[in-house]
Amino acid sequence: MKILKFGGTSVANSQNIFWVENIIKKESAKHKIVVIVSALHGVTDKLIKAAEYASVKDDSYLSILKKLEDQHLLLVKELLPILEQSSWLSFVKKHFNDIEDLYHGIFVLGELTGRIKDKIASYGEFLSSNIISARLQYKGFDCLWMNSADLIKTDDNFTNAKVNTDLTEKNIREYLRVHQNQIIIAPGFVAQDENNNATTLGRGGSDYTASLIAAAIHADELQIWTDVSGMMTADPRLTAHAKPIFEISYHEAMELSHFGAKVLYPPSIQPVMTKNIDLKIKNTFDPDAPGTLVSHHLEVSENTQQIAVGVSNMSHIALLTLEGSGMIGIPGISARLFQCLNHEKINVILITQGSSEHSITLAINEKDRIAAENAINFSFADDINLKRVSPVKIENGLSIVALVGENMKNRSGVSARMFGCLGNNGINIRAIAQGSSERNISIVISENDIRKAVNVLHEEFFESEIKQVHLYLCGTGNVGSKLIRQIYDQNQYLRENLLINLRIAGLSNSRKMIFADKGIPEEEYHHWNEYGQEASVHDFTEEIISRNLRNSVFVDITASPEIPKVYEKLLKRSINIVACNKIAASSDFEQYKTLKNTARNHNCNFYFETNVGAGLPVIGTINDLIKSGDKVTAIEAVLSGTLNFVFNNYDGSKTFSEVVAQAQQEGYTEPDPRLDLSGTDVARKILILAREAGYPLQFDEIENISFLPEACMQGNVENFYEKLSEYENHFKSLLANAQKEGKILKYTAEFKNGKAKVGLQHIAPGSDLFHLYGKDNIVIFNTLRYSEQPLVVKGAGAGAEVTASGVFADIIRSI
Ligand code: ADP
Ligand code: ASP
Ligand code: MG
Repeated sequence: MKILKFGGTSVANSQNIFWVENIIKKESAKHKIVVIVSALHGVTDKLIKAAEYASVKDDSYLSILKKLEDQHLLLVKELLPILEQSSWLSFVKKHFNDIEDLYHGIFVLGELTGRIKDKIASYGEFLSSNIISARLQYKGFDCLWMNSADLIKTDDNFTNAKVNTDLTEKNIREYLRVHQNQIIIAPGFVAQDENNNATTLGRGGSDYTASLIAAAIHADELQIWTDVSGMMTADPRLTAHAKPIFEISYHEAMELSHFGAKVLYPPSIQPVMTKNIDLKIKNTFDPDAPGTLVSHHLEVSENTQQIAVGVSNMSHIALLTLEGSGMIGIPGISARLFQCLNHEKINVILITQGSSEHSITLAINEKDRIAAENAINFSFADDINLKRVSPVKIENGLSIVALVGENMKNRSGVSARMFGCLGNNGINIRAIAQGSSERNISIVISENDIRKAVNVLHEEFFESEIKQVHLYLCGTGNVGSKLIRQIYDQNQYLRENLLINLRIAGLSNSRKMIFADKGIPEEEYHHWNEYGQEASVHDFTEEIISRNLRNSVFVDITASPEIPKVYEKLLKRSINIVACNKIAASSDFEQYKTLKNTARNHNCNFYFETNVGAGLPVIGTINDLIKSGDKVTAIEAVLSGTLNFVFNNYDGSKTFSEVVAQAQQEGYTEPDPRLDLSGTDVARKILILAREAGYPLQFDEIENISFLPEACMQGNVENFYEKLSEYENHFKSLLANAQKEGKILKYTAEFKNGKAKVGLQHIAPGSDLFHLYGKDNIVIFNTLRYSEQPLVVKGAGAGAEVTASGVFADIIRSI
């Protein structure tokens, strides 16, 4: 014999019941079956809600009941032929009359006890099972309706009654011995206490009914038919990547359901587990899908790749902590604590206690927090007065996330991986519990982080295939547009080779901004301006924070002074920052340091390789030298692609102004070329290099010997070109002076003995700086290790394409 349980969605309406009927037909052709059904989807919730309204004298309960009645009448009409309808329509009406009488009582008395709640809640299953039974009989099945409430005996803990297993099993066995129909159909969830009052087995309890019956008769199998294709690796409502688990042990299933995998009601595992009955979870709407097998056979091999079977989550959690020096070494404190919670019928979901015994922390359902607080403070009143313990501390708005798997046993590094990936995503862990079975690691986090945490863990443990990275790009100018092109072009390669998928989850320029959690598709990017909203740095930042997506990188591809102001806020949320904008790294030293420290303290990265030498590995090289224990003693460099281009091309054939304009046209200059020509940009770069080498330099300590006449710095960029033309003779003489000595002009930067300076130099043919063409940069590092021959980095130091690729490399490094 097999037991089949169909959940609320499976019996929600006639269309769904036709699926159920087909499954019953197939199974009952092979063996006798017992079918347990839930109430129609949502009916239990509505019955309870309506009762709550009635109890506060809100007559809107009447319209809810009316709708429920209509829903059931419609079902009768759709499932039965006209000739057979009338008795069943009267059946439904009669019971709704009874229901209405009960509600009227609640309304008049203004009182809703657990006992009444169970009485009314039990109507949902009573009606659904009867109507479906009528349908099966009409279709010619040998089907009998069984009142499971008469057989399942419980205590009188209404709404969550405890089953008297021995008596229940005896009743069920006896009933099924006497009644030998091919199909027995019965309501789930419902039971009776000793005095034959209706009780229920707790929300979701129809699974439990089915399991109790399976265990009572040693069924061959228990099948739980629901609306998903099995128990999944995570709640499918939280992550689109959740996959059905093919096989799972009873204990794993128990842990997952205990910590929130709603697909199975936790108490339903115990009865079948004790009798070693296989439990299958199947999809009513995709009956051929394999579903999940929960069984005792599952051999767990030490070698299996899969460490965890699933991650589950539970919301509305409160954490309560009892602490005090008086708790150390005193036996019985925890016993007292649990006793008083037990007395209030408060379920403890998770417990942690430090080995110092100084405090004990429990997770409970948020709805129980006030009762818990009162009960504990009352029970420990003397200890609180004597200051042996402090009044209990309660925190709300929390959730539990649990990682579950038999294979986690004896494996080192699982929790390190778990906490590592959560930490990298800025998810703060409030409490941790790991059972000594090592089958489960549970953490308590803020409710706001729940979706992110489930996705991060799912990605880490179940999607070894692909890591989703969320990029927020600011700036769609020269470099930004090249970067976006490179991202689209390179994404397939990254997916296949590095197992990462870059999603442009947000995009902003100075005019418009848009968000797309799943990434802006390439086709849509081309006209994103049309549907973007008005840009605002503040709103862009707040939106990123509130979306709270995992593996986020904020990319500043602007020269705007406004954007670096939000870096610190983002870093505090563990959002990585990649900037080609130099303003932050060259700002006040304290500010630079704060950003670096904030990144470190929040497990994220602040990268700005392209601040110096565009895509050349300059900052990365310094970092590697320092990390490996070297010390930079001096740096000599040509750091301005623009100035190098300008002085390489300024040979007297064109005016200085024309050469600068050409550099700007070719995209080598800063948006305002005066930043390059004045040496300010070079000064910022040597400043950043010195800082990265470990010297706390400030910008105004850099000596800048400018070659640009003061007048050229006045006015706007157009005036600037006019001014350059006016001063052509000045530039000519700079060139002539160098040529006289057989040298060339280079704008150089130097850092030596803790001091930095920038300025125009005459460079002799023998110098390392001489053979430097086009827009190339060169950085010559003298270090303790590179003392005889310096370490030299040289190559194109400007240009949108190479800068974009440097930003790209920083993005990949940051995640
Ligand atoms: P039924 O009415 O059939 O008893 P439930 O609503 O009680 O169904 O349980 C099925 C639902 O559980 C699914 O639709 C899904 O949204 C939710 N769920 C949560 N966690 C999981 C999980 N790990 N695997 C499968 N479903 C889950
Ligand atoms: N109808 C009950 C509930 O909604 C029991 C069940 O569906 O399993 O909780
Ligand atoms: Mg259920």
